Amino acid sequence: MNEKNVLFTIFGGTGDLAQRKLYPSLFRLYKKGNLSEHFAVIGTARRPWSDEHYREVVKGTIETLNPSAEEAERFASHFYYQSHDVNDSSHYQTLKELSDRLDEKYHLNGNRMYYLAMAPQFFGTIVSHLKSQKIITETGFNRLIIEKPFGSDFHSAFELNEKIRQAFPEDDIFRIDHYLGKEMIQNISAIRFANNIFESQWNNRYIDNIQITFGESLGVEDRGGYYDHSGALKDMVQNHILQVLALLAMEPPVAFSEKEIRSEKIKALKAIRIYEKKEVLENFVRGQYAAGQLDDQTFKGYREEDNVDPQSTTETFVAGKFTIDNFRWSGVPFYVRTGKRLTEKGTRINIVFKQVPVNVFKTSIDEPCNDPTLPPNVLTIYIQPTEGFSFTLNGKKVGQGFATDPIKLEYRNSAEMVENSPEAYEKLMLDALNGDSTNFSHWEEVAQSWHIVDVIRQVWDQVQPDFPNYKAGSMGPEAAFELLEKDGFEWIWQP
Ligand code: NAD
Repeated sequence: MNEKNVLFTIFGGTGDLAQRKLYPSLFRLYKKGNLSEHFAVIGTARRPWSDEHYREVVKGTIETLNPSAEEAERFASHFYYQSHDVNDSSHYQTLKELSDRLDEKYHLNGNRMYYLAMAPQFFGTIVSHLKSQKIITETGFNRLIIEKPFGSDFHSAFELNEKIRQAFPEDDIFRIDHYLGKEMIQNISAIRFANNIFESQWNNRYIDNIQITFGESLGVEDRGGYYDHSGALKDMVQNHILQVLALLAMEPPVAFSEKEIRSEKIKALKAIRIYEKKEVLENFVRGQYAAGQLDDQTFKGYREEDNVDPQSTTETFVAGKFTIDNFRWSGVPFYVRTGKRLTEKGTRINIVFKQVPVNVFKTSIDEPCNDPTLPPNVLTIYIQPTEGFSFTLNGKKVGQGFATDPIKLEYRNSAEMVENSPEAYEKLMLDALNGDSTNFSHWEEVAQSWHIVDVIRQVWDQVQPDFPNYKAGSMGPEAAFELLEKDGFEWIWQP
């Protein structure tokens, strides 16, 4: 196995992300041999932990992966803890000394991965110190993995980017969007570019509309403080949804390489129309959940959640229509919606194909049909919690006559396959170790996404919303359904 010699420095090493995702992912890479003898991890955060305590915590985070006691011990022995306030310059000196010592001990050749698993207001400070305190090595690679959110609008993202670029070149910056590590998001390209039946129809002549739903059944849980300053538009649309949209809308790359895919994604994002105020009001709706009920469970309203302003006007739901002004997509609406406390957790993409020009069956002599339209062919990509595809066709109803019946062809990855396939974070960390940034967001993508979203935010900020406007446990406000109805469509939500 291709072993990587590397030192990981995880800023925010005691945090939720590090414990739930990063340590288990590193362990999986260890089990597969991508990490073996020549790696070390420094966890840094404010708490005054010892190495021993840190290693116990790390072992606890991998328990569900059933390592043997010896394996867990060996893995955890590579972890070191450094108590550190990221605002305090003197701490970086201690960090540098520990880094250099571990580099020597494990023969790491100066290879460094810095993972910023902390609140975004610290990103700029950490990166500046990595450079000024000469923690960045002169030999080996130095790569930065940075969590979302990348800025809170174009202006702040630009400033952050300028700061980071003073220490790291673009090729060494890995802006993580964990959706891009998900199996079925990566599968979008396989479906499109390995199946002529779809790629030949992937345009405005054959596709009526495209729908992207990121539904969450949970509320804000313990993230009320963060979420109340963000809202669904910035938390979901600016990053995950626009990334998925770019993968669906981009032109076929000339090769499946980082450079080619990136350039096509950027072009697709640049073709998304930046709306005028009137267009924002026509094409985007927002919502906030009120108390509600589902299957005998009752839920409180958003404004009653912990750390949320009781008068909050933050949206917990967004639905909207994006318009792409290019030859391929002119006239095809891309509907997106995302929200908290919806009926069901589910991320799905529906490609709704145009109907046949004439329904010849409507005049069937045997069984006259009053409905002149047929249900559309729909390709559904199930991202999570189940993974797979379905495709609906119209077949003949069994028996006498010629009525038609929709038939669904389905494929789902088995539970075993899902269980055994690498986690998004594991895949993305390995990509970063390999220096492959295909599944990360390039600055130009981030910048364009903010341009698209900023105008929506600015228009909304001028209008007081009538919140709350949907019940917890429903599929969002009425206005989200009307958005499609006025275009003659409806949301598709197939099980
Ligand atoms: P968290 O609050 O659980 O952890 C924050 C960490 O930062 C802790 O280790 C804390 O000790 C440390 N810290 C705070 N102030 C510090 C200081 N001055 N000096 C040194 N250390 C300090 O947060 P989290 O949920 O782990 O999220 C971290 C980042 O990852 C955020 O940017 C978040 O948006 C992003 N993110 C998290 C998740 C998730 O599932 N938790 C998912 C996607 C993105």
